[in-house]
Amino acid sequence: MTTLFYTHPICIEHDPGPGHPERPDRLRSVLAALEADEFDALDRHQAPKAELFQIERVHPASYVENVLRQVPRSRQSGQVHLDPDTALSPASGDAALHAAGAVTAAVDAVIGGQGQNAFCAVRPPGHHAEAEQAMGFCFFNNVAIGALQAMEAHGVEKVAIVDFDVHHGNGSQSAADRHRGLFYASSHQSPAYPGTGAEYEHGLHGNIVNVELEPGSGSDRFRAAYRDRILPALGEFAPDLLMISAGFDAHIRDPLCQLNLVTEDFAWVTRELLAVAGDCCSDRVVSVLEGGYDLPALAESAAAHVRVLIDR
Ligand SMILES: [Zn+2]
Repeated sequence: MTTLFYTHPICIEHDPGPGHPERPDRLRSVLAALEADEFDALDRHQAPKAELFQIERVHPASYVENVLRQVPRSRQSGQVHLDPDTALSPASGDAALHAAGAVTAAVDAVIGGQGQNAFCAVRPPGHHAEAEQAMGFCFFNNVAIGALQAMEAHGVEKVAIVDFDVHHGNGSQSAADRHRGLFYASSHQSPAYPGTGAEYEHGLHGNIVNVELEPGSGSDRFRAAYRDRILPALGEFAPDLLMISAGFDAHIRDPLCQLNLVTEDFAWVTRELLAVAGDCCSDRVVSVLEGGYDLPALAESAAAHVRVLIDR
């Protein structure tokens, strides 16, 4: 069956400021890599804006309104910082709405049977966004908004988010604390930003799995984390839909952290996750771009990930 693909040109326009690692060229690089002939099979869609009520399942209306109200109206007014790392430019409000909308549309389509799985090439990223706090380059928690779309619009009982971004997805873990049917598993460097995600954090409902990887960890430790901890817990949870926070900043060439993954590791983990999805949720998978800051490493890792989604 088909792999669906969602993006929107406005996601390139979001500009957190000069020298910022979460820059427009990240998405340009991913889109360029996915222009290769081998990706002709992707069923490509322009992402709609998320409806406010969909975002408000994760973030209070007052927070959503506050973020959108602070979007600067013109380039001359520069960026508006919501935290030291996280800034709005004139296009950022629409970019954030389309990023979340990509994920809700992908969830609707995969649950509706229009595709087997989906990849959302979006920015700003989302997994650090707390219910009432923009942080870590993130405003709205795209993947959590997608998970809640599955649960509340489609009556899906159990959704799993697996997050292989090098950073812990503190905002996604918080969402799992608020929803018993939402499982969250993360492999991440520790110590590193944002400092959350200790292995003893299992969540209020026992639905959270964290694996800390010390700086310098490479393929062996990463794969052991999945083989020994995350994949068995995911299989035991047996989700009805699997979502992936696909960050590629654990790559050895990434400048933000010190893990030593190679591109093939991202293909490997994708295959392993799809195998579990095949066993428990009829291969229904929605993957969402998070981090990745070395442009060539990001592009080739995202391509390796999407290649596996297509081959399924
Ligand atoms: Zn990251």
